[in-house]
Amino acid sequence: MQHGRDRTRRLAQLDHEHVWHPFTQQQQWTSRPPLIIERAQGAMLYDTEGNGYIDGCSSLWTNVHGHRHPRLDQALHDQLARLAHSTLLGLSHPPAIELAQRLVDVAPWGLKRVFYSDNGSTATEVALKMAFQYQQQVGATGRTRFAALQEAYHGDTIGAVSVGSIPLFHRIYRPMLFDALALPAPVEPGGDEEAQCRDRALALLDAHGHELAALIVEPLVQGAAGMKMHTRDYLRPILEKARQMGVLLIADEVAVGFARTGTLFAMEQVGVTPDFLCLAKGLAAGYLPLAATLTTEAVYEAFLAEPHAHKQFFHGHTFTGNPLACAVALASLDLFEEEDVLDRVLDASRHMAALLKNWVGKPGIASVRQTGVMVGIDLVRPDGTPWPPEAQMGHRVCMKARDLGAVLRPLGDTLVLNPPLSIHDAELTQLVRITSDAILAEQKA
Ligand SMILES: *Cc1c(COP(=O)(O)O)cnc(C)c1O
Repeated sequence: MQHGRDRTRRLAQLDHEHVWHPFTQQQQWTSRPPLIIERAQGAMLYDTEGNGYIDGCSSLWTNVHGHRHPRLDQALHDQLARLAHSTLLGLSHPPAIELAQRLVDVAPWGLKRVFYSDNGSTATEVALKMAFQYQQQVGATGRTRFAALQEAYHGDTIGAVSVGSIPLFHRIYRPMLFDALALPAPVEPGGDEEAQCRDRALALLDAHGHELAALIVEPLVQGAAGMKMHTRDYLRPILEKARQMGVLLIADEVAVGFARTGTLFAMEQVGVTPDFLCLAKGLAAGYLPLAATLTTEAVYEAFLAEPHAHKQFFHGHTFTGNPLACAVALASLDLFEEEDVLDRVLDASRHMAALLKNWVGKPGIASVRQTGVMVGIDLVRPDGTPWPPEAQMGHRVCMKARDLGAVLRPLGDTLVLNPPLSIHDAELTQLVRITSDAILAEQKA
């Protein structure tokens, strides 16, 4: 068996030879050794050489209670001793049943029906297809379009990409996609831009609401768009108008769900009951792939009929509602209560806000946005002009942060901080200091 550096070198070589990484320019990727994470604990990741890094973006916004939490590890072991997988097509199993009931309990709007899948893209695809089929089956056959917010991101499958509108991710696929109505959405919460976007969105709904099957939104934070944020004063009138016009409301809480914005679900702050709630990233606490699409009894009932009427929902994934993932998700919901996670999130977001207070107006920082523990920092040149794309400033700062002991992932020239909810104040302080040092170092470079 190989040890230490030899093993790391061998793994790096094999990675470069065989692994095609997501959202990655492989030509750049293979030009430097990969960081290979081998274990983790709490908010820390450790590489094959034993170096530690703060997990500054919760392993792509999934990790909730920290890595290797004893209660979650135990729940996984216990379930593994009984059943690793059995299908939900034609059968059921205890963790899926128990979790459905718990999700219905914690989602505060009487969303009574839970449809499982295994990632965020499928959670939104399910909502889109269900909404479409619902409208067809209740006789609203003219409602065949969807609306979404400008620069929305709802996943990478074709339906989810069709309602998405981040030019960089989505433009090339346009000819493959169905057409969706994009409603103007702001970058910064509050302010004139937000009010103007809202009024233009309301006018578009007036003109097109009657054609729409559903409106899909990422409430409060448009994550992949670059942590763009809005207030409830923007979103609530839009959702209310859509509802008045017979449009179903899909809340994509794949990123914001599980307390990242300060409440268990962001829609609690918006104060509107959605017809669909899409959950994934944090659902199984960042341990395993699991997703759920919750909906109302009214939607559910439109699919009830004799089997030969063919009104059932024609959709299902092989690993839908995997028992191991459901068992971890159940334990995660227990931890939200046992460890007062909502209080902890408020403390952590206050601490972060205090650390970032003096950042606005610093040379090279165009904007700092924060909702809960989700933070977006827009980088510009010290003179205030944008960095040219070839400077890859966001990417360079994140590479520098690694050298200093934190794993970050940028969205273009927007730095993202979105740590595990369980991160300690000292680690948060360290994370913000590393980010600041990395920015300074790259500005000088
Ligand atoms: C990440 C994300 C998705 C897609 O989830 P995957 O598990 O990557 O398919 C969908 N919607 C939002 C808001 C997301 O942040």
